[in-house]
Amino acid sequence: MPNDAMKYVDEFRDPQLAKRLLAEISAMLPSLMTGRQRPLQIMEVCGGHTHSIFRFGLNDLLPPEIEFVHGPGCPVCVLPMGRIDDCLAIANNSNVIIASFGDAMRVPGSAQSLLQARALGADIRMVYSPADALELARKNPHKEVVFFALGFETTMPGTAFTVLNAAREKIANFSVFCNHITIVSTIKAILDSPDMRLDGFLGPGHVSMIIGTKVFDFIPQDYRLPFVVAGFEPLDILQSIYMVLLQLQSKQPHVENQYSRVVQSGGSAQALSAIGEVFRLRDMFEWRGLGSINHSAVMLAPEFTKFDAEQRFSVPNISIADPKSCQCGEVLKGVIKPMECKVFGNPCTPESPLGALMVSSEGACAAYYNYGKQRMGAKRV
Ligand code: SF4
Repeated sequence: MPNDAMKYVDEFRDPQLAKRLLAEISAMLPSLMTGRQRPLQIMEVCGGHTHSIFRFGLNDLLPPEIEFVHGPGCPVCVLPMGRIDDCLAIANNSNVIIASFGDAMRVPGSAQSLLQARALGADIRMVYSPADALELARKNPHKEVVFFALGFETTMPGTAFTVLNAAREKIANFSVFCNHITIVSTIKAILDSPDMRLDGFLGPGHVSMIIGTKVFDFIPQDYRLPFVVAGFEPLDILQSIYMVLLQLQSKQPHVENQYSRVVQSGGSAQALSAIGEVFRLRDMFEWRGLGSINHSAVMLAPEFTKFDAEQRFSVPNISIADPKSCQCGEVLKGVIKPMECKVFGNPCTPESPLGALMVSSEGACAAYYNYGKQRMGAKRV
């Protein structure tokens, strides 16, 4: 079995196939670049793609006429400081256990991260899933367990199923501090931003597994841009770029699904049904670096209010601006590259992040920091 699995992965990392795809991409560029003054800018929406692009050195292997714009697809990276402060306000209640994913614990708030608060005595525990958080509630009936929920539609079903389980079991000491965000309105807000100049998208593979591909039809229809849902292996990404270029060449942008071994056009009916039952859209949600975006996040539906931590605890709900030196917003919109941020590498590093894009390994700045410098000039295939 392990050998079969490895063979499957190897097929998506075949150097000869990568060389062939790179040659085909290069051959298409002269006609596409005629009359253009700037590189083709392709946004990879998903942080997982950003990580793969750097891990496999694709940034260096592709011709300079193709430039990646690292989108908003790392949910940890776009959490605003105010939400960390809100979570810390809940954690300050003496009978509360906060259950959080590890990455979220390092995101800076205005004064502290969750990790720093834990060092000072707050009961904040790392979990791997919302189900782990519910188990904590079962084991600690005299404590209030609050799950710090975050992520796009990829992680929403897990939270939804856990809330449904908590309701079915009538667990009274469990709630969710909900920071789940939605991808479609966010992409729309980015496309409507006046300083945005994109030529196409690598669409998010994991989110699309849940919400399908049809929801992205507005991108080619209204903005005339190619959108190719992509897998995460190097050949997936190269093939998806090739598909974007083919669409640009034909001047017929549409939604394509390169990741069809995982993604269905209608998404997952079971997951969508749980999301629809448990969540409702928020009118407004603030994103770090992008400001407030209409309908870009969810909260618990009225039937599940008793599992909503924002209803059970008092939270300050204050909007806090990022430090002036942070240019996370400009990086998120692709206006500047991470290395062009004034504080990149000094003082902002993965060990001591000033902005959120340095926190998670899927953040654009952390990827540049960890892989970018080492890859300069490298040609691996
Ligand atoms: S280097 Fe730090 S402050 Fe600058 S954009 Fe990246 S994460 Fe934000």
